[in-house]
Amino acid sequence: MAKIQMKTPLVEIDGDEMTRMIWKMVKDELLEPFIDLKTEYYDLGLEFRENTKDQVTVDAANAIKRLGVGVKCATITPNADRVKEYNLTEMWKSPNGTLRAILDGTVFRKPILVDGFTSFVPTWKEPITIARHAYGDLYKGVEFKVEGPCEAELVIKKPDGTTETQTIHKFKGAGVVQGIHNTDESISSFAKACFQFALDQKQDLLFSAKDTISKKYDHTFKDLFNEIFDAEFKTAFEEAGIQYTYTLIDDAVARIMRSEGGLIWACKNYDGDVMSDMVAAAFGSLAMMTSVLVSPTGEFEYEAAHGTVTRHYYQYLKGVQTSTNPIATLFAWTGGLKKRGELDEIPELVHFAEQLEVASIETLKKGIMTKDLIPLSSNPDKQEVTTAGLIAAIRATLESKL
Ligand code: NAP
Ligand code: MG
Repeated sequence: MAKIQMKTPLVEIDGDEMTRMIWKMVKDELLEPFIDLKTEYYDLGLEFRENTKDQVTVDAANAIKRLGVGVKCATITPNADRVKEYNLTEMWKSPNGTLRAILDGTVFRKPILVDGFTSFVPTWKEPITIARHAYGDLYKGVEFKVEGPCEAELVIKKPDGTTETQTIHKFKGAGVVQGIHNTDESISSFAKACFQFALDQKQDLLFSAKDTISKKYDHTFKDLFNEIFDAEFKTAFEEAGIQYTYTLIDDAVARIMRSEGGLIWACKNYDGDVMSDMVAAAFGSLAMMTSVLVSPTGEFEYEAAHGTVTRHYYQYLKGVQTSTNPIATLFAWTGGLKKRGELDEIPELVHFAEQLEVASIETLKKGIMTKDLIPLSSNPDKQEVTTAGLIAAIRATLESKL
């Protein structure tokens, strides 16, 4: 069979530890035998980030801006231990943070569902995607612990020297105070990325906040979403047959619990932090969550939601064949290839990526799976295999389809 040809290269962002090993296995066994893979390669493995003083991360982000679609392997975010382990000259920033800052993107997290793997919420038949605003609020908050009687004020100083002041609270005893902020620019980017992604996925979008209580702060989120929707997306949503709904967070929780899934739920920063962990836990495994960063101008970066699986990597270095789940990493590739195929109008590339996803899910359904999935599967014939074993089984299923 002739290999599938590509037009524009995918931005390929390599990473660290166990996921770096899986990255290569996926390419060798499941992609390169079938596709004449065209990529622009950036090595974000910690050693090369150190060698380039992290310039490679910036270059990778700019490449995604230029070419439109990237696929990223999990990477180490250095802490003090890693600085020692890798002999780093600096505690380099989180690569995902750098990519997000340059692409101004929003992260969408979506579980991969397989029949026979029980969700803890039985009504959820389709994946629920969480869109988390990744700037501000609690995460850029400033705080005081007050020790005794005092008056806390909120003061706005304008460039012309005038000020506006509100009393937060007159303390009679000890307590706590917090100041948080967000910007119209960031909220607008978030809204645009959510609308873009809903159109891309052809799924309904729900955005929730607490505007009844927070009449200026949360209300601004609600208003900006509504204004941008009406001005830029309403017609496209109508044409795609999808809906945008704003609702109070309390109501959103109730709606989500009763839904069958299959929608996108946009959340403020803190809500998204909590709700994405809830959704991941309900659907079973971190190793079955994919993640895509979408910029407001429509660039896409696909990755697995999990990290570099360090514990397994240390086993692997000792020569142990680990049973690390490659599915989310594989789905990052299929996501990127599908998007590249759509943009470049290469239907055989889109079809191949879809078949690869189907082959992966069928293989798991047959009962061949990695260790992390064993407790979730109701298949009586389930068997635990190594990473290489699962990849080989997926390849066999795929070849029987092509
Ligand atoms: P992690 O790599 O996600 O792993 C945490 C644990 O979850 C693993 O020890 C393993 O549990 C389980 N797990 C995760 N992925 C799995 C998979 N594919 N197959 C089977 N089990 C899986 O998180 P971490 O240990 O907190 O972080 C490790 C490194 O990854 C850190 O350096 C961190 O900075 C980095 N990280 C990167 C990203 C990213 O690039 N997006 C995200 C998160 C973390 P058991 O050990 O019980 O088997
Ligand atoms: Mg969290």
